[in-house]
Amino acid sequence: MTPKASMVHGPKANPEASATEPAPAQAKDLPSVDRLLRAPALSALLDELGAQFVTRQARALLDALRRRALAGELAPSELDELPERLARQCREALAPRMRRVVNLTGTVIHTNLGRALLADAALQQLLHCMASPNNLEYDLDSGGRGDRDSLVESLLCELTGAEAATVVNNNAAAVLLVIAALGRGREVIVSRGELVEIGGAFRMPDVMASAGAELVEVGTTNRTHARDYEGAITERTAMLMKVHTSNYAVQGFTAAVDEATLAPIAHARGLPLVSDLGSGALVDLSQWGLPKEPLPQEMLAAGCDVVTFSGDKLLGGPQAGLIVGKKAFIDRIRKFPMKRALRMSKLPLAALEATLRLYLRPDRLTRELPTLRLLTRPVDEIRAQAQDLAPRLAQALAPRYRVEVADMLGQIGSGSLPVERLPSAGLAIAPLTAKGVGRALESLSDALRGLPLPVIGRVAEDRLWLDLRCLSAQEQQALQEQLPRLRAALGLAAPEITE
Ligand SMILES: *Cc1c(COP(=O)(O)O)cnc(C)c1O
Repeated sequence: MTPKASMVHGPKANPEASATEPAPAQAKDLPSVDRLLRAPALSALLDELGAQFVTRQARALLDALRRRALAGELAPSELDELPERLARQCREALAPRMRRVVNLTGTVIHTNLGRALLADAALQQLLHCMASPNNLEYDLDSGGRGDRDSLVESLLCELTGAEAATVVNNNAAAVLLVIAALGRGREVIVSRGELVEIGGAFRMPDVMASAGAELVEVGTTNRTHARDYEGAITERTAMLMKVHTSNYAVQGFTAAVDEATLAPIAHARGLPLVSDLGSGALVDLSQWGLPKEPLPQEMLAAGCDVVTFSGDKLLGGPQAGLIVGKKAFIDRIRKFPMKRALRMSKLPLAALEATLRLYLRPDRLTRELPTLRLLTRPVDEIRAQAQDLAPRLAQALAPRYRVEVADMLGQIGSGSLPVERLPSAGLAIAPLTAKGVGRALESLSDALRGLPLPVIGRVAEDRLWLDLRCLSAQEQQALQEQLPRLRAALGLAAPEITE
């Protein structure tokens, strides 16, 4: 339990602090569980939440108080209002664990904060399809059993130029499934420069082992040549694989073999070339001045047989693993038994279909797809928002912190383009003390995280940085309404904050 709920009420008379300290309460002064539950103030709560849950909470509360009483630490005042305290404890225990937060980290597609935000069209489709039966696996033409992949396959083929497509729960599952279906019990050749580890324990050598394939590393960390791949092919080789180095860059004296060079080498030996793009993007981001990410359609045109990428990174949709490519391979992948365990649920499938449909009008994407809207937000607009918010925040944090509008560099996030930074703007907050800067920043970021709508920033270089690229007008309003609470949580005297 956190004390934050009680901190928002400003200074309250603390009976413990009175001049003559009363004697501590005794364990025998505590009510029994039954007596506590008979309090009239609890009858509505018992009706709503049921006796079992409330009883367990009551027992936990009384046990904790008894322990403190036995240690001689229980103030008599703590026995007042026990029913109210129990009710509060029950509500806190049941407060939703998944909550909205405000992402001011500067990382637009933040894996820890849920990655891409869904487009309105995707949310509408979810609402529309989830409250009633739908044709998830029902063919409305024939009246027979259908395939859930068919809901998005034609769109994926249309958008990437692939012959066929299938979808699974996420891209890690897509990579696992492709390797297992095409490479189990055989060898898969990957460059040493591409043996990636993505956050959350996705490591290419381990995925390879789980899929039952044998990893054959070729080249060196910085340089791999076509002859390295050619020399490693044996009769046990199942495929050649390229992996996008999503979260690092190999720079300097480097060489890698691109897909267009590798495809003929694979095909000459009758092998498929598989490419894991990680993020992938369905449109060229450089048209909006963003760094270019490789597109699945380019990989297919370069000769890749199978390409995998995520649904909730740059694509801007729900969590999903998309697998596109030649029909013969996609059929094998789709029929592989593991596919059933990795299949997509109907919720993200509905959202994915609606998201993909937006790509038929790329010219509207920066309006309709939140990920692209945020990534292309003009810095001037972000800076103006920072100028608007700065004095309000400065007032709430005075006199302990100084708030300044600052230009900053954000990033796209989720493993795309790690070295490219996204020019942005926001607020840089510095403690106005020479000593204890670290602690002052920590208590500020704790207080921001502890707000009813938690605000997540980033601490670096003796500042707390709030990058406002992802702050919507509605979130800004909510943040401003929370400023008095923020001030109270920091223990700053109540000011005359005007809302
Ligand atoms: C992100 C990523 C994955 C994993 O994708 P998820 O959608 O997170 O499962 C796999 N490979 C690469 C190269 C990635 O960047």
